[in-house]
Amino acid sequence: MLTEHVYVAIGSNIGDSATIVAQAMEAIGHIRGCELRGRSSLYRSAAVGDIPQGDYINAVARLDTELQPLDLLLELQAIEHAYYRNREDERRWAPRTLDLDIVLFGNHRINDSHLVIPHPEFVNRRFVLEPMLEINGDLYIPGYGSLKYLVNQAPALEMEKLASSHG
Ligand code: AMP
Repeated sequence: MLTEHVYVAIGSNIGDSATIVAQAMEAIGHIRGCELRGRSSLYRSAAVGDIPQGDYINAVARLDTELQPLDLLLELQAIEHAYYRNREDERRWAPRTLDLDIVLFGNHRINDSHLVIPHPEFVNRRFVLEPMLEINGDLYIPGYGSLKYLVNQAPALEMEKLASSHG
């Protein structure tokens, strides 16, 4: 069966975010049809936007998957819901218990009402690019360039690398 290389961005800024992100990493590794192939360290980053809120804890997981993109999205949303994320209350940039985004799904380009891949904001998000670089320093993304180049041109962000995500 065809497997695809996938990068998933993990973020949280409500509750014990370091534990939530580490647990989400494990949960992602247990999704049927997926194998966890790479995990970044945890990073702390300042929240983006005008809403006053706490720092985020971020990380990236690299998976091999046999799932279709929408099926993977549903599995990730089930993990988000396990952490009581309440979508109805959310505004853009509002605090989040757990946010899981599919950054890349192989070289697929998807643009429908449920899924946009590559994730439209990833090139602007240093908290996604730097953890990806830690996992795969040689990654080249067709249509975008090398990951190293993307990191160099990404907007500055106050962030620091924390412990590994192995708990
Ligand atoms: P957000 O609140 O930013 O996590 O957005 C959630 C919604 O974004 C979900 O309903 C998804 O259908 C949609 N979405 C579009 N593209 C993606 C993606 N690449 N990864 C995760 N969610 C996505």
